[in-house]
Amino acid sequence: MSRPATHESLGNCPRCGTSIPSRNLLIRYERGDGHARYAACPDCETPVRPA
Ligand SMILES: [Zn+2]
Repeated sequence: MSRPATHESLGNCPRCGTSIPSRNLLIRYERGDGHARYAACPDCETPVRPA
């Protein structure tokens, strides 16, 4: 089972819509209803929750 580790995306920035690469992940934690992730948007340069 192999998967590409390079162009993996966390999702899109809810502010500007830019695709956020997995290497920009800042923190990930479990919640009762799932998990939440925060990542640094390369355009906004601020922590966002990828959607
Ligand atoms: Zn953004």
